[in-house]
Amino acid sequence: MKKGSKEVKIKFETDWKYAPAPESSDHIKLKSSYDLFINGEFVTPSSGKYFETVNPSNEKKIADVADANEKDVDNAVKSARQAYEKVWSRMPAKERGKYIFRIARIMQERARELAVIETMDGGKAIRESRDIDVPLAAAHFFYYAGWADKIEYAVPGTKTKSLGVAGQIIPWNFPLLMAAWKIAPALAAGNTVVLKPAETTPLTALKLAEIISDAGLPPGVVNIITGAGATGAALVNHPGIDKIAFTGSTDVGKIIQKALAGTSKKYTLELGGKAANIIFEDATIDQAVEGIINGIFFNQGHVCCAGSRLFVQESIAKKVIRKLKDRMETLIVGDPLDKNTDVGAINSKMQLDKIKQYIKIGMNEGGECFQTSCSIPTKGYWHRPTLFTNVSQSSRIVQEEIFGPVLSVQTFRTVEEVIEKANNIPYGLSGGVWTDKGSKIFRVTSALRAGVVWANTYNKFDPTSPFGGYKESGMGREGGLHGLMPYLSIEN
Ligand code: NDP
Repeated sequence: MKKGSKEVKIKFETDWKYAPAPESSDHIKLKSSYDLFINGEFVTPSSGKYFETVNPSNEKKIADVADANEKDVDNAVKSARQAYEKVWSRMPAKERGKYIFRIARIMQERARELAVIETMDGGKAIRESRDIDVPLAAAHFFYYAGWADKIEYAVPGTKTKSLGVAGQIIPWNFPLLMAAWKIAPALAAGNTVVLKPAETTPLTALKLAEIISDAGLPPGVVNIITGAGATGAALVNHPGIDKIAFTGSTDVGKIIQKALAGTSKKYTLELGGKAANIIFEDATIDQAVEGIINGIFFNQGHVCCAGSRLFVQESIAKKVIRKLKDRMETLIVGDPLDKNTDVGAINSKMQLDKIKQYIKIGMNEGGECFQTSCSIPTKGYWHRPTLFTNVSQSSRIVQEEIFGPVLSVQTFRTVEEVIEKANNIPYGLSGGVWTDKGSKIFRVTSALRAGVVWANTYNKFDPTSPFGGYKESGMGREGGLHGLMPYLSIEN
C-alpha cells in the first residue's frame, strides 16, 4: 500500500456462497458394535463392557466399542508372543514384506471408506482425511514393506534382531496415520504388535483390523484392543511387552516413562509441542500467510507440530496480522464431510472445554483476542479460528500446548532475539522459518532446538523422513530409517 493511502478493509460478506459439496457416507458399512481384535478374530471383551464412540460434528453415537481390561490385554500380548515365536520371527523377511505391501494396497482400495470414517469419528475435514491422512498412512506401509528384506543393510556392519512384542498407544488427532506410523515399522523389523487406539477415535483402527485380516496376516501378528487410559496403562505395565511406542500428551508420556524406568522394555515417546513459526521481513508475505494458516488451522489445530506460536519481524507485523485476519475470515468452518470445509469439528467436548478454558486464560492475561465472524453449527463441538496478540513469552497461552485452532502472535527485531524466544519453551518438536535468504534459513534452522523445522513451507510429511522431538516433546524418532531403529536390537 502506498504511503498516505487509506487501508481498505476487505468485505467477506457477499451473496456468493459455496454450494454444499457433501461427501456421501451411503457406502459406509459400520457395525453397531465392535469387539477386540485378538489372535486374528473379533472377540467380546472379558468385562462385557462397551463404550460409545460419537460423531463430534453432530454428537450422534456411531457405534459401541469394546472396553478391554487387564485380562484382554494379557490375551492380546500372549497371542502376539505366540505369533512372534512361532510364525513372524521365523518367516523369511521377503514374505513379511509381501504382507505389509498387501495391507498398503488394500488401504488404497478402501481409501474413500477410510477417509469418510476418519472424518465421521474424529471431526476432521474430509479434504484432509482424503488427501493427507489416508494416502500418507498407505504410504507408510508401502515404504516399510520395502525395508522388510533389507534390514541387514539398514545398519551396515552390525547384526540386527527384532525385539519381540511391541505395545503401541496412539492419540486421537491422526488415528489411522498414527496406527500406520506404529504398525508398519514394527512389522518390517520383524516384531508383532498390540495396538491401543484412542478412546474417541477407534473406528479406523478397527477397519484396519479388517484390512489386516483380509490381507491374510497370520493370527496374532497384529492385535487391536480398544479402551481408555486404563487399557493403555495395562499394556505399558504388562511384563510380556518388549517395547512401548507411545504418541500422546507429555503428561501421560511422563507417567509411562516412570512406569518403564528400571524395566528392560525399550520405549519411544512422541509427545506434545508448541512450535514457533517465524516470519522474517524478507519473506514472501502472501505465501507465508498461507503457511501460517496451514500451520495452525490444519486439523483444527489438533496437531502436535502445529505452528501455534507465530513470530513476525516487527517491521512487517502490522501488515502480516491484517492479511492473516483477512485470510482467517475466508476459512469455512462446518460440516467435516463437506468438501469445501477448511476447519472441521473439535474432536470431543473435553477438548473443546480445554480450548475454551485457554481462551479465558489468554483474555485474563491481557491478550487481545480476534475470532472469525463465521457462523458455526449449533449441534456438535466447534471453535472459531482464533488469534491472540498482545501476549508475552510468559503468557500461559504462549507456553502451553492448547491443541486447538488458537494462534498467539509475538514480534521480534533480530535473528538472535527470535532464536532465543523460539527456544524458550519446554517443548522441541517442530518449527517453521520464512525468509528469502538461504543463509538465514541455515542459521535459524540449525539453532532451533526442534526435531523438524520447515523452511518456506509447513506441515509437510513423508514416510522417508524421521519425525520426533527434543526436551518434553519426547524421545526417539518415527519415520524413515530412523523409525526402524527403535524396533531393532543392534549388535556390533
Ligand atoms: P493422551 O496422552 O491423553 O492419550 C494418548 C493415548 O494414551 C490414548 O490412547 C489414551 O487413551 C492413552 N492413555 C491415557 N492415559 C494413559 C496411561 N496412564 N497409560 C497409558 N496410556 C494412556 O493424549 P491425547 O489423546 O489427548 O493426544 C493429544 C496429545 O498427543 C497432544 O499432546 C499431542 O501433542 C500429542 N501428539 C504427539 C505427536 C507426536 O508425534 N509427537 C503426534 C500426535 C499427537 P484415551 O484415549 O482413552 O485417553
